Amino acid sequence: MNDRDHKIVKILKKNILRHGALSLADYMHICLTHPVHGYYIKNEPIGTKGDFTTSPEISQMFGELIGLWIVQVWMDHQKPEKFSLVELGPGKGTLMADILRATRMITDFHNSLELILIEISPSLKSIQKRTLKGFPAQWKTEIKALPNQPTIIIANEFFDALPINQFQRKSDKWMEVMVNLKGLSGSYSNEFCFELMNPSTASSEILINFENEVPEEGCMIEISKTMQNIVYCLSKHIHQNSGAALIIDYGKEGNVGNTLQAVHKHRYSNPLSSPGQQDLTSFVDFKAIRTYAEESGLIASHLTNQGDFLKNLGIEQRAEILSKGLSGNDLVLHQTALDRLINKNLMGDLFKVLGIRSAKSPPLIGLET
Ligand code: SAH
Repeated sequence: MNDRDHKIVKILKKNILRHGALSLADYMHICLTHPVHGYYIKNEPIGTKGDFTTSPEISQMFGELIGLWIVQVWMDHQKPEKFSLVELGPGKGTLMADILRATRMITDFHNSLELILIEISPSLKSIQKRTLKGFPAQWKTEIKALPNQPTIIIANEFFDALPINQFQRKSDKWMEVMVNLKGLSGSYSNEFCFELMNPSTASSEILINFENEVPEEGCMIEISKTMQNIVYCLSKHIHQNSGAALIIDYGKEGNVGNTLQAVHKHRYSNPLSSPGQQDLTSFVDFKAIRTYAEESGLIASHLTNQGDFLKNLGIEQRAEILSKGLSGNDLVLHQTALDRLINKNLMGDLFKVLGIRSAKSPPLIGLET
């Protein structure tokens, strides 16, 4: 255990000894975004040297096609003279850099856009500043502060990083999955374990919509209050100002099952070991996103898989054009990257795409047309 590892273990332990076992959401929140020792705050998680690789890091084509999607949405909104282009959790800034490069010939579009990046991590923010050098951008840590104008929001692998609560059905009631210190002499232990407990008052409120369901014994569900708040906030903003959001992530329709996973150096690991040193994620519940968006007066597209979405936007044709200038190993790498993004056995089906838009705007390209 290194020094930093030790500090976050101490923080978690102090919390548990003072207030009792932590909900999984509180555990994830501390591990991922503790202002000093959180995983996203200090680490450089993305890329071959990090813990995981994302679609924009695999090929420039991903950002180029999303750039096309954004321009079409802007045109569908009668080319507003000022609009916000917002990215949630931009990582290394690669996706946005590719979007801006691919659309630079459309000068009206570039002159109209105000770029806003929502990022919690100071270290990733400085990498984003470097990647997007020369392009005026604003950084914010919360969606709440967006200016009132048409808004297009993109989020790739952002929602999977948000904390979740987990519940399990036991003897006809919901119990909550909590994180506790291992062993009876808890105060001396530095290891954590999962434990089922009666839900607190706050957790009972989170469960409220599931009280009337009669699931099988042992069934697990996951609910993200943070995700709910974010989707309500961005939906309200789009409803009031017009615009759309594009959400890409691994996930499914619904919230049944235990999908919590930890990844360290491109391998799965135990979510309770090395807190703050590894990524913790869960499958995004797209049904919940759709419900929150529709409750806010927006239209949500069908859930489309990443492979179909990218093919609808013309990734195969774009790949063909790019391959003309390549040979040897570069050509092989290019073809492998395309395959990784769209093959149903790779990222093509695991990753899903959901579009949401204001009720007044036309259907979304690649998702509804
Ligand atoms: N979209 C990027 C990176 C995905 S990793 C890509 O596709 O490569 C998740 C990103 O979300 C990181 O930039 C992380 O710092 C950021 N993030 C995680 N939780 C956040 C939160 N609560 N608020 C703002 N940003 C957050």
